[in-house]
Amino acid sequence: LRGLAEDTPRRARLTVLAGPTAVGKGTVSADVRARYPDVWLSVSATTRPPRPGEIDGVHYHFLDADQFSQMVSDGELLEWAVVHGRNSYGTPRGPVEDRLAVGRPALLEIDLQGARQVRQTMPEAQFVFLAPPSWEELVRRLEGRGTEDAEERERRLVTAQVELAAAAEFDHTIINDDVRRATDELVALMGCTPS
Ligand code: 5GP
Repeated sequence: LRGLAEDTPRRARLTVLAGPTAVGKGTVSADVRARYPDVWLSVSATTRPPRPGEIDGVHYHFLDADQFSQMVSDGELLEWAVVHGRNSYGTPRGPVEDRLAVGRPALLEIDLQGARQVRQTMPEAQFVFLAPPSWEELVRRLEGRGTEDAEERERRLVTAQVELAAAAEFDHTIINDDVRRATDELVALMGCTPS
């Protein structure tokens, strides 16, 4: 029996990373891209306009509302959600399935609503919650990045309070007090080694 377990190749898994606004999911994703080019990260579709420096097809697939709705009705999204009551975001299904089909691990960085959908449809995935070192630090990061006005920050903090309580639904929690360490921990959970 022992031999059997050892010889059976471990099935590639989907890893889902979620966490509250401003916790640094984007920063951890960028660090994964930079330091672990062999780790496959899903490219989401979104109706949000690109920010300076964001490249279509690399950071997101930037779509208009009609194109996004078409993907939804064609069943091409593994999950999707309206995030912060504003823009739609979703994970294209095909690339994730192709990746898992050839036995390679895949990573999704999505919001909590999306993570819950994947939990329903792909319960064999592993779910990783990225948490801030403290509430004060989360507020500081949101204010520090200066990408949202006061009203939007307030709205995101209300969402974040609810989202922090969801950590218990996840298989693992990683505290993002140091981006490189958080990234290394995530990649280790995926069973990937430094490339
Ligand atoms: P941002 O607009 O700052 O890039 O992302 C806003 C939020 O959308 C983040 O919480 C991010 O995790 C989430 N997000 C990005 N891609 C997806 C996706 O494909 N599906 C879902 N459900 N959320 C996503």
